[in-house]
Amino acid sequence: KANRQFHEDDSVIDIDGVKVGAENFLVCAGPCSVENEDDMVALGKKLKAAGANTFRGGAFKPRTSPYAFQGLGLEGLRILNVVKEETGLPIVSELMSTDYIDDFVESVDVIQVGARNMQNFDLLKAIGETDKPVLLKRGMSATMKEWLMSAEYVMAGGNDNVIFCERGIRTFETATRNTLDIQAVPVIQKESHLPIVIDPSHAAGVRHLIPSMAKAAVMAGANGLQIEVHEDPENAWSDGQQCLTPDEFEELMQTINMLLDIE
Ligand code: PEP
Ligand code: MN
Repeated sequence: KANRQFHEDDSVIDIDGVKVGAENFLVCAGPCSVENEDDMVALGKKLKAAGANTFRGGAFKPRTSPYAFQGLGLEGLRILNVVKEETGLPIVSELMSTDYIDDFVESVDVIQVGARNMQNFDLLKAIGETDKPVLLKRGMSATMKEWLMSAEYVMAGGNDNVIFCERGIRTFETATRNTLDIQAVPVIQKESHLPIVIDPSHAAGVRHLIPSMAKAAVMAGANGLQIEVHEDPENAWSDGQQCLTPDEFEELMQTINMLLDIE
């Protein structure tokens, strides 16, 4: 179902009115983790003004250490809904367990499947039974073929609203957190009719690489970007080292919009 052989035209995924695919560019921005309500609303307003068309924030966080902050849980989903009410931005958040699927169907506009859950087949099957748009992140050691098959798991259940997200893969390189596989853009677009977006934040793991990788993504023909942004990155509850400030994000968006016009 994800294969272009059976669906020549590019699919356009409708995220509560925000269309993604072909000519429609997704700009998903926000903090790694959902934090205080007032801060999230203030950030959401800035991001929208700068050109974001969706707001991201993790309420359930897949942290490497069990002692690290695990997310606000359902309280985080409540806060995301306040951000949506105040800004009108559709909400993207990661679902880690089928236990919360009903809460996510009710509260978010896009269910994010994290890199660590790309092959959690029970989770993919459960999401396949909903009609929510899905942001399917590439597993850090997954081949593109495996990634396409994960989309197939969602679509086999009847949910065709899948967006791929390349977020860097594990290589021998240690200068960056992961290695951004920009080639995923043309490969996936050749193999599939579904949109593919780039997350330079988790690929780079460091702030200063994000603008150049975001620009590379646009020129490679990606259908969107997911970028972590925080008002005060030094004090972010997670992934602060790879967050842009709102000012940096705004500056990047000006360049991105220029490139999108050229492209
Ligand atoms: C995230 O988006 O904050 C995240 C944990 O991403 P990934 O699953 O790509 O590591
Ligand atoms: Mn993160």
